[in-house]
Amino acid sequence: MSDLLADRKMPTPCRRTPAPVAAVKTFATRNADLGDGLMVRRALPHRDQRMVGPWCFLDHFGPVDVADGGLRVAPHPHIGLQTVTWLVEGEVLHRDSLGNHQAIFPGQLNLMTAGAGIAHSEESPVQARGRLHGVQLWTALPETKRRREPAFAHHPELPRVRHGNIDITLVVGDAFDRHSPALCFWPAVALDLAMAGDVEQALPLQPDFEHALLVLDGSVDVAGHKIRPGRLIHLAPGRNGVHVASAAHARAFLIGGAPFNETVLMWWNFVARTPEEIRAARNAWDKHEHFREVPGYEGERLASPPLTLRRTRLSAR
Ligand code: MN
Repeated sequence: MSDLLADRKMPTPCRRTPAPVAAVKTFATRNADLGDGLMVRRALPHRDQRMVGPWCFLDHFGPVDVADGGLRVAPHPHIGLQTVTWLVEGEVLHRDSLGNHQAIFPGQLNLMTAGAGIAHSEESPVQARGRLHGVQLWTALPETKRRREPAFAHHPELPRVRHGNIDITLVVGDAFDRHSPALCFWPAVALDLAMAGDVEQALPLQPDFEHALLVLDGSVDVAGHKIRPGRLIHLAPGRNGVHVASAAHARAFLIGGAPFNETVLMWWNFVARTPEEIRAARNAWDKHEHFREVPGYEGERLASPPLTLRRTRLSAR
């Protein structure tokens, strides 16, 4: 994915003590255009919730019929983050400047670590049919890791557990005494929750994490709030679990993590700390420096948007 929206500054205040009462809030996603006509629901960043642990970006795309265009995000750069791509339906082809060329299908994880800099493209294969439905998330890399060398990993198999009537895939982190193979640099978790109906139970949570749940399909009652696609529920740290219920088929994605205690600056596809770093990364992309080309992609790469970094500090989290 690529973020066409430009300027925001996101300080993330350090919160060493959990809220006395584990607060719950829900908020609406907003529509964003990936630039090729594919509209997505952007849940993060949100003006009321900049991040959830290290998770700083969350797009929910589809379901769409790929005959109507599908996904076509031309080569673009990233720094300072990891991307997590997870599909419910369809297929996406990833190419990157390290030379990786990888198709991803439902139940598999594509994890790209941008570190000091990587470029990639994401597209529906030309022969693709049917529907495309999934999420893409970014995590911010902490100060000690954000300039590391770039990397890409494809995980075709992930731990799966049955918890009551929920089929859970462990995408990132540790849960239910299982461990995801995904390389991550800040305490975090991501779970895919598939519910066939008749779900009424507690989902265990790690108390020192904050969490958020996005419903991808159907309707899920979370801590007494009815959540449907287009709405995110945020759960503050300090909970051992959350009550979830669903009478019919539903699909949800849960993310969580230790509150991220570094001030992050996000612009376009860059996660950095200062406007100077953003400017340098943008200039490097414009001049075909630093970022290598993405081999095999047919077409032009994305141009960087105009740089208008505002000095606005957004204090809400
Ligand atoms: Mn991207």
